[in-house]
Amino acid sequence: MFDATCAECGAETKVPFEPRGDRPVYCDKCYREKRPQRGGGGGGYGDRQMFDAVCATCGEATQVPFEPRGDRPVYCREHFKRGE
Ligand SMILES: [Zn+2]
Ligand SMILES: [Zn+2]
Repeated sequence: MFDATCAECGAETKVPFEPRGDRPVYCDKCYREKRPQRGGGGGGYGDRQMFDAVCATCGEATQVPFEPRGDRPVYCREHFKRGE
């Protein structure tokens, strides 16, 4: 591990690579705060946008994480799992 100084709060920290000054180095705390959040924290899907869609197999209303454009079929969870 190499000694480094956090570019955010100035705290002494250690990093697994040699700091060369070509990119900022952060302490554990600041690194965690800067990293994009992924679902954690009990907030469900966070700010991930869901779009209304209709299953191409059973016609049931569902939600998908991308905007359905009609150039490919969209499936509900049940049929998506089955690969239909
Ligand atoms: Zn810091
Ligand atoms: Zn379906």
